[in-house]
Amino acid sequence: MPGPAPTQKLDYLLTRLISIYGRQGRYSSKPPLDQLMATILSQRTTYADERKAYTKLLDTYGDWQGVAAAPVSGIEECILSSRWPEVKAPRIKQILNSLIERYGEPTLDFLSDMETKAAQDYLMELPGVGFKSATFVLLFSLRKPVVPVDTHVHRVSIRYGLLPPGMTQAKAHTALLEILPNDADELLNFHKLLFKHGQRICTWSSPRCENCVVAERCDFARERGK
Ligand code: SF4
Repeated sequence: MPGPAPTQKLDYLLTRLISIYGRQGRYSSKPPLDQLMATILSQRTTYADERKAYTKLLDTYGDWQGVAAAPVSGIEECILSSRWPEVKAPRIKQILNSLIERYGEPTLDFLSDMETKAAQDYLMELPGVGFKSATFVLLFSLRKPVVPVDTHVHRVSIRYGLLPPGMTQAKAHTALLEILPNDADELLNFHKLLFKHGQRICTWSSPRCENCVVAERCDFARERGK
């Protein structure tokens, strides 16, 4: 017998996850440049260590203009708690200086007036900014209708059966946008619900299907129970 249609399956997932985590609606209060810097520092880094690096950087140099003028070695020293500081420090300086050269100050505020695709392309031209990092800035700070697919969103989407097994994170973004509403509030809600669920219940090493509110309709749980 065929399984439920994707939209029914999606509705069930969202309803059940909202019942335990509540509806998610909190955007970042950071301007887009701050969000981008935090995103770079968070790559392969825990939230606590990212915060430590971000705070030390701004405490040491005052603002992004100050960071742009700082030596790479000084930036690297401040962000040692973040993974790969030797790679991130020159990138941070390069991004800030390229913005100052073009706009006279380090800012990405102008992205809010751009179409989503144009803003995404702009971000991805900056050194070291890939598709995933761009989507974090676009959704969390600029409220553009994209869906960041991190490791948790990716894993839960595949296990539950919204996406086919083996689909890459890069392809997952397009596939998810085909079944999700083109609305930033809905996409934020989806991202945060799956992120929380992936962190707390559907973990990479040991998914707790016996305690999961969507187990009844989850492909992975069904296969596991056979
Ligand atoms: S039932 Fe298991 S595999 Fe499916 S979403 Fe829940 S924890 Fe993950």
